[in-house]
Amino acid sequence: MVNLDITFLGTSAAMPTADRYLSSIVVNRNGTLLVFDAGEGMQYNFIRSKIGFNKKTMMFITHMHSDHILGILGFLQTLSLQGRTLPIDIFGPELLYDFIVENLKLLHIHLTFQLNIHKISGSQGVLVEEKEYNILYCKSEHGPGIRSYAYCLHEKDRPGKFDIDKAKAFGIPEGELYSLLQQGINIVNNNRLVHASEIVGKTRPGRKIGISGDTRPSNILCNFFKNCDLLIFEATFSSSELAKAKESYHSTAVETATLAKLASVHKLYLTHFSSRYKDLNALLKEARSVFLYTEIALDLKLIHVPYRY
Ligand SMILES: [Zn+2]
Repeated sequence: MVNLDITFLGTSAAMPTADRYLSSIVVNRNGTLLVFDAGEGMQYNFIRSKIGFNKKTMMFITHMHSDHILGILGFLQTLSLQGRTLPIDIFGPELLYDFIVENLKLLHIHLTFQLNIHKISGSQGVLVEEKEYNILYCKSEHGPGIRSYAYCLHEKDRPGKFDIDKAKAFGIPEGELYSLLQQGINIVNNNRLVHASEIVGKTRPGRKIGISGDTRPSNILCNFFKNCDLLIFEATFSSSELAKAKESYHSTAVETATLAKLASVHKLYLTHFSSRYKDLNALLKEARSVFLYTEIALDLKLIHVPYRY
């Protein structure tokens, strides 16, 4: 069982409100932290969430707008003041490199760990390949001249269910033979060939988490987020502000719910709300009229994502 927990550190768009910080999401996969965007002050909620600093960490930046990146510097400084030595990899649009390097220089921030800054190029692909999961990226639509990306955490297939009763009935001793069967390798036990498929079920799909960043909805993103167990997608505006959403290259709650429905996602979380909305129930209601399995993201809300298969 691999835990997959998501914490919203900030859910407000453009400017913070009394109870909403700026964009940042942490995915904690069995102790590895994947941080998506780092809006100003994200480290406050990071501390409040008690996730813990000294962990393997990767950061992914959706685009170079201040409400998504100003928290990077303070976060890196705090990690250094704590004497971190574990390296961090950070991924994002080309300008991310200059933004970080120049500011570290100007502000005399001396990092105590290695920071690897990766510039994303191209429009879609695999960004990180780990043993059990990949991080994928896809170009999103946040306006002319603005490089913006959406991301997916996609776990690789897991081995099928091991039928321990059957293994015992076959007289297979626990240990190495169990492990071979679990890996799909046929074995010989008591002069009898045992096919792995007799003991172990079909491989099961891993989980898929999607994160939109700021964007208009698009067919490309709809495909990219197909069958997500959990999709976190911006809903800056209500549908009454559609013109504003189009003009500023954001999405309305109804548009986001429509995309989620078309992409057959399991669950949708709306985030990145304009500070004009004091009560988000109207946005939730709008979205649920299209896609029932919709929730509203709240700062410091923790979500566990279980296996579906
Ligand atoms: Zn933006």
